[in-house]
Amino acid sequence: MGITIIRAGQLIDGRGGVTHEATVVVDGDTIREVGPSREIEAPAGAEVIDASAYTVMPGLIDCHTHLGGTSSVDYRTWVVEDDIRQAIVSTKQMRELMDFGVTTIRDISRNGIRLKWVVENRVIEGPRIVACGPGISRTGGHGDAHNLSVDFVQRSHPWGIIADGPEELRKTVRTLSRMGSDAIKIWATGGGMWDKELETDQHFDLEELRAVVREADHLRIPVLAHAESMEAAKDAIRAGVATIEHGEDLDDECRAMMVEQGIIHVPTLQLFTGPWFDAYPPPPREGLDRFPGDTPVQQEKNRVIDNFTRSREAGVTIAVGSDSFSSIDVPFGASTLAEVHAMVDAGMPPLDALTAATFNGATALRVADRTGSIAPGLAADLLVVDGDPTTDIRHLAQERMLYIRRGEQVWFDDLTPRAARSRRPALAG
Ligand SMILES: [Zn+2]
Repeated sequence: MGITIIRAGQLIDGRGGVTHEATVVVDGDTIREVGPSREIEAPAGAEVIDASAYTVMPGLIDCHTHLGGTSSVDYRTWVVEDDIRQAIVSTKQMRELMDFGVTTIRDISRNGIRLKWVVENRVIEGPRIVACGPGISRTGGHGDAHNLSVDFVQRSHPWGIIADGPEELRKTVRTLSRMGSDAIKIWATGGGMWDKELETDQHFDLEELRAVVREADHLRIPVLAHAESMEAAKDAIRAGVATIEHGEDLDDECRAMMVEQGIIHVPTLQLFTGPWFDAYPPPPREGLDRFPGDTPVQQEKNRVIDNFTRSREAGVTIAVGSDSFSSIDVPFGASTLAEVHAMVDAGMPPLDALTAATFNGATALRVADRTGSIAPGLAADLLVVDGDPTTDIRHLAQERMLYIRRGEQVWFDDLTPRAARSRRPALAG
């Protein structure tokens, strides 16, 4: 693959910069040069992509996916589904992300580690994967399956592994590292799927969280904490995690510590404001009556939006994560875009939401030296969008994506005259 020149009408660099009439020079899988179009001549033999009527921006980063390959809406069957079938389904889920312009993910599942391998070894095309492997749940927690034997869960849960107490947690971090984990996910609270694991229940105490972070530090890998209660979030922050997932119940002390320690908030807002939330009503929170709404669910949505706004205004770095775990309930890729839209609907300026979906995600995943913005030396992870998402965030839509590229993989191309290059895979369902 040689030199490709992309002429952009508007260029969003991923770090809050917007320029007009800019050109990106791509050499193989890498961005070589970015600058004003009038200053950059196309070398002989270069392929020129004319996106002068469109917006060029970095590929999207989704910090929270579960490529578990589950096929059913019934969570009680996820662990008993055939593992090989789940592995096959997960490849489709991974490709769905690319269809929506998601070129990098942080994934929490057993399959994610395998998918990373097959993509890196060019067996199949897919996004860059920061693979966590299964996340750590306490016994009886969110990543357990309470209807099955513990042995079976430890062998076959698509995205959970069970451990309790500092010693077991240490061993589990080491085990995950041995499996190939690039980051460690822990459920600091419940997640509201099973009895006795409410979102408001803290599941690991400070000592346990510290043991996980210390062990991960030794391995130079970050920890991401699912934390839906304020006290659990605070303990996770004190322990030194890298990101707070969900974090819909923070207080000013949490936010101040997050700013000071550079801890990133992945709010998964669309889970709380979208249809998923109506189907699974949350536990009542204290002080809910202070928020507008005719029903407790509406009040809770407004409480979560208020919490998000306070994080944003306090200067906490926000990144995009969809929590896609099933193609039926939280579809892959579509939910990533829904998350960006939800952030703007909740009052975030569109350009900030685009930064959350690109550079901030790369920072959270510790891959900002490789992707997440458009700059020389970084991977050619690029989108061409028909429209201006800085003024209307809903222009960031699959049907407006004219070109999707991850490094050397040109996933979709509707701009190059040779129609044969257009090859968004036809995926059923
Ligand atoms: Zn999740």
